Amino acid sequence: MRLHLLGTGGADGVPALYSDTRVSRYAREHGGKDVRSRSAALLDGHIKIDFGPDTWAQVVREGLDARDWSSVVFTHADADHLAVEELQYSLFPFNGFEAAGFVIYGNNRIVDSVWRRYPDWPFEVVLTESFVPFECCDYRVTPIRAKHGAEGEDAQNLIIEQGGRSLLYATDTGIWEEPTWEYLRDFRLDLLVLECTEGFVLTPYNGHLDIEEFRLVVARMRDMGTVTDTTKIVTTHHSHNGEGTHAELEAALGPEGVVVGYDGLMIDI
Ligand SMILES: [Zn+2]
Repeated sequence: MRLHLLGTGGADGVPALYSDTRVSRYAREHGGKDVRSRSAALLDGHIKIDFGPDTWAQVVREGLDARDWSSVVFTHADADHLAVEELQYSLFPFNGFEAAGFVIYGNNRIVDSVWRRYPDWPFEVVLTESFVPFECCDYRVTPIRAKHGAEGEDAQNLIIEQGGRSLLYATDTGIWEEPTWEYLRDFRLDLLVLECTEGFVLTPYNGHLDIEEFRLVVARMRDMGTVTDTTKIVTTHHSHNGEGTHAELEAALGPEGVVVGYDGLMIDI
């Protein structure tokens, strides 16, 4: 499998619109890996993960064609992951129906948003639930419950398996609750993509990870054998409020064998 990180920023991206943080200023000045669009990924060129407000720009930047996407699998409905208005461009009169059909997979809030905005949505919409695996093309996708999201939302991180290889994509999660940890015990990952939203700013907020919480999560996954010495570990979903430029995060995490993710990074497993 090849996972292509299209965006690696937190909710407001880096540099953020109205931000004057040091990290935003650095990104404006230096560009490159310090510019982070809203988190999203593409698996093997056709399984799109999340559809946020930067989708158009990511497609253009990476030379992609959205008509190649067989499926859009959502993690949760926060605005940086679901830009419901952007989905209209797959429909008439913007497009011919024959070209743009794709299956949407999403939790309760995603499905509600799509049907509310598009009562006549012409393509398949599949409700996903944490801990209930489903088949998407020839991939097995298992959502696990994130510690994140709006009240009542089944926010998810995604385990994707194919051909004996497996990855976990976890852009938005605090430290998981015990049922998620228990569930993870049965998996051996070839790739872990894990948020490090709050970077060097250590905070008790539970819906995201700072660098110490990131290390704790990885260590516990190692202890239980879900992460092994051959698992590739990549960060994502970095906030400009995290006080870490790309190079600073690399200096901290590189020696631990962690790759700091950036927009455009492709990871093969
Ligand atoms: Zn997010």
